[in-house]
Amino acid sequence: MTSARLEFRDVSRSFDDGARSTVLALRNTSFTLARGQCLRVLGPSGAGKSTLLSLACGLLLPTTGEVLLDGEPFSRWRESFRAEARRRRMSVVVQGLSLVSSMTVLENVLLAAIPDGLSSRASRDRAHAWLERLGIADLALANVERLSGGERQRVALARALSAPTAELIVLDEPSAHLDASRTEAVVAALRERLDAGASALVATHDPRLDLLGEALRLPEREVAL
Ligand code: ADP
Ligand code: MG
Repeated sequence: MTSARLEFRDVSRSFDDGARSTVLALRNTSFTLARGQCLRVLGPSGAGKSTLLSLACGLLLPTTGEVLLDGEPFSRWRESFRAEARRRRMSVVVQGLSLVSSMTVLENVLLAAIPDGLSSRASRDRAHAWLERLGIADLALANVERLSGGERQRVALARALSAPTAELIVLDEPSAHLDASRTEAVVAALRERLDAGASALVATHDPRLDLLGEALRLPEREVAL
């Protein structure tokens, strides 16, 4: 498998909330995620963890600074190129990157199989295996519109972990809706991907994920007065 190197160079991201105030969601953040490395993104609620993950997969662009994938700044890529890179090279589970609501659970998970061109039999088997492992096999043919938030997150996770060739894995709180044995399955799968050369950014406070990699700690957000 090929692998990706991700770099944040002095990245800040702010949001205009309409009228007067601007929220500085992420401030002057720099790090390098080497090939095969996992960083656990930690920090209090509101510190910018989810914002950092959206920047990492090119769903958001920085206000200042650069996010580079294999040395190329996302800011120079067209939106369609970033979407293509996400589809072909990444496994992403973040808020705001949702499931396709007109499809079933199984169809959504099978979307992950398209880039690698594997036979549909192998992809279906892999998709089913992940639905089993995450405890949602009985929902395979359900329309995703009917699912609860926790079930949707598990479908998104099954989709991410079914993508066999993803070079960069970006997960926001992956164990939030999983019990112990299912969390173990996710950790084992991530371990396997990392050993095969993938890189991962995982926002989590779950100590069961501690061994996956080093911590990247975001400070509490300063509230502008
Ligand atoms: P965390 O995931 O660490 O809880 P977030 O990245 O979700 O933090 O949010 C950091 C800050 O940025 C919060 O104050 C949040 O309200 C704000 N924020 C995040 N996304 C947006 C957005 N799309 N529009 C406005 N404010 C946002
Ligand atoms: Mg968050």
